[in-house]
Amino acid sequence: MKVFKFGGASINSIDRIKSTSQIIKTQAGDKLLLVVSAMGKTTNALEKVAGSFFEGKKEEALALFQQVKDQHRNTLKYLTVTRGLQGENQLNDFNTEVEWLLHDKPVRQFDYYYDQVVCSGELMSTAILYHYLLELGVNIAWVDVRDVIKTDNNFRDAGVDWDFTGSMIKEKVLPLFEQYDVVLTQGFIGSTFENESTTLGREGSDYTAAIFANLMNAESVTIWKDVESVMNADPRKFADAVNIYSLSYAEVIEMAYYGAQVIHPKTIKPLQNKNIPLFVKNFLNPQLQGTSITHQLARQLPTLIVVKENQALMQFKSKDFSFVEDKPIEQLHKIFDTVKLKPNLSQNTAISLLCSFDDRKEKIDQLAHLASEFFDVELERNLSLLTLRHYNTEIYQQLTKGKTVVLLQKTPETVQALMRENTAV
Ligand code: ASP
Ligand code: MG
Repeated sequence: MKVFKFGGASINSIDRIKSTSQIIKTQAGDKLLLVVSAMGKTTNALEKVAGSFFEGKKEEALALFQQVKDQHRNTLKYLTVTRGLQGENQLNDFNTEVEWLLHDKPVRQFDYYYDQVVCSGELMSTAILYHYLLELGVNIAWVDVRDVIKTDNNFRDAGVDWDFTGSMIKEKVLPLFEQYDVVLTQGFIGSTFENESTTLGREGSDYTAAIFANLMNAESVTIWKDVESVMNADPRKFADAVNIYSLSYAEVIEMAYYGAQVIHPKTIKPLQNKNIPLFVKNFLNPQLQGTSITHQLARQLPTLIVVKENQALMQFKSKDFSFVEDKPIEQLHKIFDTVKLKPNLSQNTAISLLCSFDDRKEKIDQLAHLASEFFDVELERNLSLLTLRHYNTEIYQQLTKGKTVVLLQKTPETVQALMRENTAV
């Protein structure tokens, strides 16, 4: 059995849904588990719904949600002939759940509401795709993944209960393959044991595919994207970015860790643990080779370039000149946990610790505030973090030219430079 994951871009228009469905139809002879994200930018739109609701702007939240609903209903109408009514009923079921909630007043944490609202994106997209594929004659079942992937209640970044999820897959998913060729379900979402919806973190559908593959011992996972393959750099920023056709799990996990937006960072471990190959393929042109990711070490990789913009450098200096050792570092890490911010790069000197973070303003302010009890805190914004793997001096010099490096870390394999743009005086 194979696992296919389709992201938002592969179903963001009628045409895309049609061509994605052709890929599925062609493969449907093999047993296939399909994991699908929300359409296009739906998750962003639903985040706004949750935000308005939480700010007490009920009418605005309902109006924004109405737009999302209409868009899905129209898509369904265009695509279906005989299954229209069943499809609409299914969409209505999900929408009613959300609308009930939007009529209430927020009394719980934001993250809880976020998950209850945002999960509807995946439920709606998969319902539409399901009814369309049925009309195309695909022998397919639709599964609400919230009955299968069980998580803790750490909303917005829920942790999966692997044992329980494994038993649900055995009980509820595997038997479906005796009757159906394709089982379609949602990426990114799950639910608690109290049946409250949860999400696994933005872009989490890749991870869902890996969870299923691991627990079903799938033969492979294919992530269908709008790029030809994994590349050594973001082609929107680097015109000379090149394709990479084979990579090791280890390399990909490093790339994702440094911020390359290739594959969700949590995806690799479940696949590596069971030695399940991961293919990245282009849904616009399935004939292209794509990238295969396995345990095999790739030789002669080009330099991998990752740039993270919008970095904030914080310097925590001990107030009384005592060394920054175990105790104060421990205090700081507790604060990082509370604020839910992880440094992308950190380095300590005798009496200070330097850390670079994604500049999420409220979190940075909160962090500065909490840390100021123990440390003098200095902050510099608007930096960018360059990471190069398999680098050479020439590339390093070229990419740091015209910039001031404010923090530098090197191993023989990887160099990371936190940089400030030199402004002309
Ligand atoms: N729809 C979710 C997101 O946009 C999950 C995903 O696309 O993987 O983050
Ligand atoms: Mg996506």
